[in-house]
Amino acid sequence: MYYSIEQTVYVPGDKIDLNLNSKVSSDPRLLVLDYHNVTDLFNPEELTEILKNLKIPVIILSYVGSTTITRINTHAEVLDYKLPGWLCFQKKETADPGSKGHFLGILKEQGFRPILFDDSEDNIMSALAADCDARLITSRDDVKVEVGKLL
Ligand SMILES: [Mg+2]
Repeated sequence: MYYSIEQTVYVPGDKIDLNLNSKVSSDPRLLVLDYHNVTDLFNPEELTEILKNLKIPVIILSYVGSTTITRINTHAEVLDYKLPGWLCFQKKETADPGSKGHFLGILKEQGFRPILFDDSEDNIMSALAADCDARLITSRDDVKVEVGKLL
């Protein structure tokens, strides 16, 4: 089970719909940003500036414990970035249900080519286990450099 922040609703894996029809293009790439220590390295204005020349859709995918204060705070903070935001509730090195890799694998089945930016090696492994691209992020510069490679 996943959670769509913009729709404020739980969504089973087989019902995930990114609703990106307004950005239909022949380029199937999709940039998926971790929230903590990736997206939140920048304020919303800074991130908009960094992404402004990118021609592919961007979403935020955050792992949170399902009952934590972090979850409540993350929900509110992600809204400020005006990007589709999703929560997942499993942190794994595999692509087991509920993990980031599982989420990305579903998007891949839908025809997207997800590229995850994440500071956690567990989540990177999870994405790779789903045969998706992933880049380990350790700094603000990493984000800028890796976005540059997607232009
Ligand atoms: Mg993180």
